[in-house]
Amino acid sequence: MAPPPAALLLLLPPALAALLAGAAAATRAPPRSIAVVGAGIGGSAVAYFLQQHFGPQVQLDVYEAANVGGRLATVTVNKQQYESGGASIHSLNLHMQDFVKILGLKHRREVAGKSAIFSGEHFVLEETDWYLLNLFRLWWHYGISFLRLQMWVEEVMEKFMRIYKYQAYGYAFSSLEELLRSLGGEAFVNMTQRSVAESLLEVGVTQRFVDDVIAAVLRSSYGQSVLVPAFAGAMSLAGAQGSTWAVEGGNKLVCSGLLKLTKANVIPARVTGVSLHSSEGRALYQVHYEDDEGQGSGFYDMVVLTAPLHPSKSNFTFQNFEPPITDFPGAFQPSVTSVVHGYLNSSYFGFPDPKLFPFASILTTDTPDLFFNAMDNICPVNISSAFRRKQPQEAAVWRVLSQQPLDKQQLKTLFRSYYSVQVTEWQAYPHYDSAKSLPPIVLHDNLFYLSSVEWVASSMEMVAVAAKNVALLAYNRWYQDLEKIDQKDLMHKVKTEL
Ligand SMILES: Cc1cc2nc3c(=O)[nH]c(=O)nc-3n(C[C@H](O)[C@H](O)[C@H](O)COP(=O)(O)OP(=O)(O)OC[C@H]3O[C@@H](n4cnc5c(N)ncnc54)[C@H](O)[C@@H]3O)c2cc1C
Repeated sequence: MAPPPAALLLLLPPALAALLAGAAAATRAPPRSIAVVGAGIGGSAVAYFLQQHFGPQVQLDVYEAANVGGRLATVTVNKQQYESGGASIHSLNLHMQDFVKILGLKHRREVAGKSAIFSGEHFVLEETDWYLLNLFRLWWHYGISFLRLQMWVEEVMEKFMRIYKYQAYGYAFSSLEELLRSLGGEAFVNMTQRSVAESLLEVGVTQRFVDDVIAAVLRSSYGQSVLVPAFAGAMSLAGAQGSTWAVEGGNKLVCSGLLKLTKANVIPARVTGVSLHSSEGRALYQVHYEDDEGQGSGFYDMVVLTAPLHPSKSNFTFQNFEPPITDFPGAFQPSVTSVVHGYLNSSYFGFPDPKLFPFASILTTDTPDLFFNAMDNICPVNISSAFRRKQPQEAAVWRVLSQQPLDKQQLKTLFRSYYSVQVTEWQAYPHYDSAKSLPPIVLHDNLFYLSSVEWVASSMEMVAVAAKNVALLAYNRWYQDLEKIDQKDLMHKVKTEL
């Protein structure tokens, strides 16, 4: 069968176009085996997408050094599980929505709770039960800054959503810059190079709003300041504004579910490096690993790395590559989650009577001596219809985010008393103001670095978008379908031709 012309494919619905493109691809055998390093949302999503594109006959090995789910994890308090890592998903995160649907999972029921921003001495902004009063307070304190912010975030999100259409039609990008350019032109690329504060001040948001509100959102989402680049900032501000959800039973169920669906071989081992060999004139990658039994290795036609590489991971080596693959600059930001079961010390927040404490979520401003970034009264991952939030005077489960582990004195400041504290120390996100250039996606012919996307923004959906992009890129490169890579003016094509 002759391959259908690309222009004809553009006129067809995505599913049919993909089918015909698949027929065209039949001229070359698919890869025999693919290795994925890491079984977080990146690794499990890319395994799923790779299998969708290359078919079920490809051997998929997923190496995982610790736990399936990675930064999607839970801790158990009183026989109930609570999210300790990635917790909330924006309603417009379409890949995450899709995964949940495909896997037959459910959205967890939302339990309402009010938020406030704490300066270390008093609350600078408090949410009330009244929508109009909240608007009035925002306007009273900050003028129309909140409207300007909303318009700015909506514009970014609207352009970002183009990615789903491009991906549905099989388009992929070989660099983060090309991906961003296709979505929002040079302005999107520049948004990774300048701070969110700078961008917002430019559209007329006041300095006071940046200091009180934007700083609080970024401390809570990235544990960082308003110097976070504008693109990453916009993504976390969208999360703070829009409606969010989580997966009933725990977000990590998406990872285990996708891996089960693809029947990938999950290999409990730490990958120590990749070396390049050639066989019958084509690249073959040897993946070196360590497990309980010692050292081992396996050979693959293709490898996808879904674990962030940075200087503290310098024990991960690449051998025989020319030019050498060496440089992964930029640090990762430690972040500590303490899940505390106890009685809030509401006096510290200016409420001597605990019964009157109205907030379920406390964000903080960038105040030098403040030792925590945010704290939330959290619900378990399984919520029955009878579940209700604890009264403020009752013992509840709180998730406290901080830069350093909390010491006894700090815990006593926040809690009158507590039954248990469970601490998870994460290498959470890139430290955004420490490196400006974006890492590559393609490290070699069929060796891909999915986690590079975290330097644009780090969230479950960004990683899922990158997983789909890497799967499409791998597929288009394998079958030399170059028209589907780094196409310019895609938005115009989508509008006029598709
Ligand atoms: C405290 C916290 C709160 C967050 N909140 C949110 C949120 O509300 N919403 C949101 O969307 N995102 C949130 N995130 C971010 C989100 O969790 C991450 O962006 C996402 O989970 C990253 O997925 P990943 O698969 O790329 O990486 P990871 O989840 O880190 O997965 C990588 C996997 O690779 C494994 N690995 C590493 N090195 C090796 C090796 N050498 N060999 C084999 N395996 C290896 C690791 O063990 C890990 O399981 C949060 C993150 C943290 C830490």
